[in-house]
Amino acid sequence: VAPDRTRPALRRPRGLGRRVLLKLSGELIAGERGAGLTQAGLECLADQIAGARLAGAQTAVVIGGGNLVRGSALPFLPRSLCDGIGMLGTLMNALALQGTLAQRGLAATVLTAFPAPRFADLYRPERAVALLEAGEVVLLAGGTGQTHLTTDTAAALRAVELGCTLLVKGTKVDGVYSADPVRQPRARRFERLTHAEVLRRRLRVMDLTAVTLCMENDLPIVVLNATQSGSVERCLRGRAIGTLILPTVTGKAAR
Ligand code: UDP
Repeated sequence: VAPDRTRPALRRPRGLGRRVLLKLSGELIAGERGAGLTQAGLECLADQIAGARLAGAQTAVVIGGGNLVRGSALPFLPRSLCDGIGMLGTLMNALALQGTLAQRGLAATVLTAFPAPRFADLYRPERAVALLEAGEVVLLAGGTGQTHLTTDTAAALRAVELGCTLLVKGTKVDGVYSADPVRQPRARRFERLTHAEVLRRRLRVMDLTAVTLCMENDLPIVVLNATQSGSVERCLRGRAIGTLILPTVTGKAAR
């Protein structure tokens, strides 16, 4: 990928992208269709994961399930049942992503938060770290394994457990805005924020549990557009992509 010379590189703490947790939402797998699994969506995510490896990052991935089932979307059934169905959806996504990566010769291991021995090994932090250190991509399925939580929280939790240096949240939006940029065209995009600002302004980046967990563990977050080709790799190579959330802001908080 040619270096992006259109924007100055952000000065980022050393080693920020050494071991990365990529949170990729299910809607990215749905692609243009908006739901379910599409080849284009899976290839897009596989490209981003390959980009992270090219940038030299040990790469763990938490995959969402919103393209299949969100617990809150089935109000006619008990919530805990729906969350279970949602977590199963993330395993389906992880297996599809593993297959897509395998087709391009990239080894990835799926570890799941709940037993599903026919499909994947149970998640243990030590096993995940060993795989990461061996250079394998680790796909973390099943969220936290607990109901009433989201895969954002799973991403924050796993990033902390695995000693990740950065959490990259890949979405369809190119960063964090002061308001919904679709409804409010004058919404500003932040270049940098602190975790505390995200919480205080209730900015819709990740759920509050996830942001709080990152804040308490001094874990930086980058929010970027994962549908933009090469965005994860450029971010990990130190380019100013998306919004960077740090424990303390150095430089301008918003453009
Ligand atoms: N889920 C859960 N516990 C978790 C993670 C996920 O119960 O730790 C369920 C929850 O119902 C959620 C669904 O799985 O709505 C899919 O995850 P999420 O909505 O976070 O997916 P995304 O929006 O990232 O695609």
